[in-house]
Amino acid sequence: MILPGSTLGLLGGGQLGRMFASAARTMGYDIIALDPDPASPAAHFATEHLCADFDDANALEILARRCAAITTEFENLPADSLAWLAQRVPVRPGASAVAIAQDRMREKSFFVENGFPVGSFAIIRSETDFEAIGHAVQFPAILKTARFGYDGKGQAQVSTVAAARERFLEWHAVPCVLEQLLPLKLEVSVVLARGIDGTIATFPVVENQHQNGILDVSIAPARISATLAIQAQDIAQRLATKLEYRGVLAVEFFVIDDENGNEKLLINEIAPRPHNSGHFTIDACRTSQFEQQVRAVCDLPFGPTTQHSPAVMVNLLGDVWKNNALDAEIILNEPNVKLHLYGKREARDGRKMGHYTVLGGDVHSALKSALDIKHRLLT
Ligand code: ADP
Ligand code: MG
Repeated sequence: MILPGSTLGLLGGGQLGRMFASAARTMGYDIIALDPDPASPAAHFATEHLCADFDDANALEILARRCAAITTEFENLPADSLAWLAQRVPVRPGASAVAIAQDRMREKSFFVENGFPVGSFAIIRSETDFEAIGHAVQFPAILKTARFGYDGKGQAQVSTVAAARERFLEWHAVPCVLEQLLPLKLEVSVVLARGIDGTIATFPVVENQHQNGILDVSIAPARISATLAIQAQDIAQRLATKLEYRGVLAVEFFVIDDENGNEKLLINEIAPRPHNSGHFTIDACRTSQFEQQVRAVCDLPFGPTTQHSPAVMVNLLGDVWKNNALDAEIILNEPNVKLHLYGKREARDGRKMGHYTVLGGDVHSALKSALDIKHRLLT
């Protein structure tokens, strides 16, 4: 076990790193965060901020020398940096899982090779791949860059092969996946933590609503049947085991109707880190996803994932900042609502600035109150 008093390294300094650092510091660990942004949200909670690129040899050397273990909050890390660190200090999650999660082509191939359910897709490496699509993917479809996409960025809806090809060339022919646009009934996700001995602690299934490709509202527990919830958790656990995963993993699912009108799960994507849809765990579960990450990284036993209150989380995007300010009183006046702000100075449309979590007697009333607050913030 890596005990409190030890120093942990953190690759990436966004809000997920901030909440991880907060949990770790609370438990008595020191954190060295590496992030090139001088205004890194995680830096406020880290013991030390190395303001440098993820391939900066000097910064990596400091992390390797001073940290008992290293974790990540961000998947777009250079593979070489992870490999270099892994030779010197435990890195959790490991480089191979991050390499799969950061590349939609590898991710999709991994799902298919291991028998996990996914929607129809085609891998596009060059223009000629469009000729071979045939009936493999029906239109309308979504073209997604294989790497560096997030919050709906790096993807475009296309209604014909010609439109898809045009987009691909517009994006300078970087590798892409072309996915069939699925008639989604619902989106859900599962966050879990897996330890070195294979123990898995799984949080309740969350229902997610997106706006413009960005997570807007998460409802926990998801309003799905117990059978479907167990299936989602089971798939997520099998995935984590197949990946020999160490740390916190999030699995995003689509819920669609099959030919017989029965609800069916398809995996959308995975994230090798805590997830926006797991933020409700901070206020509504015995253990948060971030404390669980500390526990996974340090080989501590996992805390209980039991949810003690139905909860609805709403993201606060820059859009609700007026004259660069949030009307926080609207949220703070509500006794059962928890406000989380990420310390970002500059509010921009679509930028994740914070979130709030409404705790309720039931999901229905929590959702009603969450949407009412959102409405008041917007008007
Ligand atoms: P990101 O990395 O930006 O989260 P996702 O692949 O998860 O990218 O896409 C973001 C959102 O776009 C999804 O949560 C979903 O709402 C919608 N979406 C993505 N792919 C599809 C699809 N094949 N069919 C229908 N909706 C989709
Ligand atoms: Mg996603």
